[in-house]
Formats: sequence, C-alpha cells, structure tokens
Amino acid sequence: MGKVYFDDGRIELTHYGAAAWKITDGKHTVLLDPYFTRLRYSGKRFGMLPANAAPGDERPAHSFDDIVESDTAVIDRHIDEATHILLSHAHFNHCMDMPYIARKTGALVIGSYSATNIASAYGVEEDRLITVRGGEDYDFGEISIRVIPSLHSALCDKCYFDAGIVPEGLKGPLPLKAFSEGGTFGYLIRFRQHEMLLFGSMNYIEREVQGLTPSVILVPAARPRLQVWQYTARLLKATGLPKVVVATHWDVQTYPYDADQSSALEQAVSFQREVQEVSPRSTQVLPRHFETFAIHADHRVAFPAAAHAQGVHHA
Ligand SMILES: [Zn+2]
Repeated sequence: MGKVYFDDGRIELTHYGAAAWKITDGKHTVLLDPYFTRLRYSGKRFGMLPANAAPGDERPAHSFDDIVESDTAVIDRHIDEATHILLSHAHFNHCMDMPYIARKTGALVIGSYSATNIASAYGVEEDRLITVRGGEDYDFGEISIRVIPSLHSALCDKCYFDAGIVPEGLKGPLPLKAFSEGGTFGYLIRFRQHEMLLFGSMNYIEREVQGLTPSVILVPAARPRLQVWQYTARLLKATGLPKVVVATHWDVQTYPYDADQSSALEQAVSFQREVQEVSPRSTQVLPRHFETFAIHADHRVAFPAAAHAQGVHHA
C-alpha cells in the first residue's frame, strides 16, 4: 500500500449518485453507501416510491422477489481501493453493492446489524465487519468515526415505516426484499484537517447532531426533505453552520447514469436556496455524477479545471 496523505492537506470527494461517495485524504479512502447498480424496480415496498422509467430506459424492472446482482463493470471502473465503507442503512440502494466492494478492497465495513449481516451473506470476512448501534466513537489511529443515531427519509408523505432487520445466516445472492432498512445512521469522520458529517437519508435527530461542529456536511437534498419541519435550517444551525455544505442523494437513483436529471436538479437547487438563506457564508456544492472536487485545508472548494469550465457547480 504505502499510501500517503495529500501533501497540501486537502480531501477529495467523488459523488456516484444516490447517496454514494468516495472521500479520501490520500491515505484513507472512505466510501459512504457505495451504490452503482441503479436498479429499476416495480412495486412498492418499504414505503418507497414506485420507480418510473427514465425516457428510453429499456432495462427490466425488478420485482422485490427478484434476486439482484451488482453491476460489477461499473463498480470496477470507479472503485479500486477503500479502507472503510460506511452504511447509512441497509436498503438495497445503499447496501447491495457493498459486499462486492468490501471483498474487492478488503475495507472495513461499518454499519448496522442488518448491514453487516448482508456483508456476511456474501462472504465478507468477519474480521472486516464492525457492527454498530449508534453512539459509538471509534478510533482508527489517524482518523476517527463517530456513529450518529439517525432516521430514514419520511417517504410517501410520512407513511414510510420499515421495521425489518436483515437476520444472520442468510446466503447471497439475495432478493431485493431482503434489504430491510435495519435502522439509520449518520457518521462524523475526523480527518487530520477536516471534520465531516455525512448523511445518507433525508432525516436526522436534532439532539444527536446538536453541538457538532463539522467543517463539511453532506445533506440529502431530494424532495422528501420537505416532510421534515425546517429540515435545512435546523440541521445547519444545530451543527454550527458548516463552512462547506454539499448536497447529496438528490438524483433519481433508479435512472441510469446518463439519464436527464433536470427535475431532480431543480429540487436540489431549491435546497441550495434554503442553505443560502440560513447560512449565506457557507460554500455550497451540488455535485454531478462521477464528479470529484477537493476541499483544501482552508476549506476552499476546488474543482478540476475541466469541470469548472462548465460553470454549473457552485451555488
Ligand atoms: Zn432507504
């Protein structure tokens, strides 16, 4: 390995759509909810919205009884290493690609009992699994990770409820319906120069984030956030108005990567207006798929020159 820190103290973040991220300080590579398969599905389960097809999308829609498989070609194009994989919850669009990535990279997997049971079902080694219940604050030497008890998005006008857990002893490949929520977490990661608060679902428990002072926050920004009273303002005020606010989980994650996301983007832009109102001094980022940007030690955000030229990224 012999990986070393970026010498200027920056971290780099890459967004893969849905709630999926790679975050690296050069030495550690942390993945959050790494999901690349972007399944179409039919039927309604877990209070999820029925998945409409993107225009021209001729991929089959999976039923919840179907056995599902990861799109390993896409994963292999984008992920070759990881030290830690964090799971906000165990729904398929957060967790189903994790076992393949965990086995490929040897990363530590940190998630709920349900999430690590999914990993076991696909043969991820026991000593790579860290099962958490929320509240843990674990020291990994040069980084540390605090597990923040949290809540799932209030889908379907707040009627969403998934009491399910993924039991021990399953054998993959699993059907879509096996991926129960299993409880939801946020994560606070302390890198040397940066403290980042990450969420993978559109809700949080205010008292669990009150008093945290992350320099960077990833906030799920799609429409279900509007079910939560003062979602954006309460979260940003409770966390000390972070210097960098990144919109995440804003896309239609059942659409293929190349589909038009303009209506989802409009929602994300309305989220950015909420941020602007409560925290006008924050730098905002609305990342597109596969886009990488850097956050420097002084919290300056920088995009690679090519992406920057498109002029579409900053609020
Ligand atoms: Zn979910």
